[in-house]
Amino acid sequence: MRITPRAYETKKVVDILEDPTFDSPEQMAKALIKEIGDMIQMRDLVVLVHTWESGHKGLNIGPFGAVAEAESFAKKMSFGGTAKVVPITSSGVLLANHDGKTSWPGYCWNPDCGHAPFNHAMDGSSRGKCHRVDCSCERFVKDDPSAKTKKKPAAKKGAAKGVNEL
Ligand SMILES: [Zn+2]
Ligand SMILES: [Zn+2]
Repeated sequence: MRITPRAYETKKVVDILEDPTFDSPEQMAKALIKEIGDMIQMRDLVVLVHTWESGHKGLNIGPFGAVAEAESFAKKMSFGGTAKVVPITSSGVLLANHDGKTSWPGYCWNPDCGHAPFNHAMDGSSRGKCHRVDCSCERFVKDDPSAKTKKKPAAKKGAAKGVNEL
């Protein structure tokens, strides 16, 4: 499966690689495999649904990371019959919508919450209190708070611009 790594996925993997608390490389490897499995489950993937020339159902093959990948697979294998690329809905996203998912873009970054935006009441133009039972979150946290501290280059740019305008 060909997938393009996303910045937050890369960050999560780096966090594991830099975590000094693992007792052995095997433990770290297990953590990585679990994390990456979780990431793949969060993606909307595609499958190939195949029908033989006779009209009989073929196999459902996949998942693939993208339509182009599924198409090039079909071309290479040339089974005959017809194949349709069908998007499959991410079970991880559905689960995250149901249960919440901490430290994941799109979900509340409050470590005690992690619930979807639509679980939070509207408060003016932003989202406020989470109304899930047993959740104490008072305000939807849209962005990763740990990412904010790393936005220094942007601040520098702004400052430099200010100087130039003088
Ligand atoms: Zn919540
Ligand atoms: Zn929240």
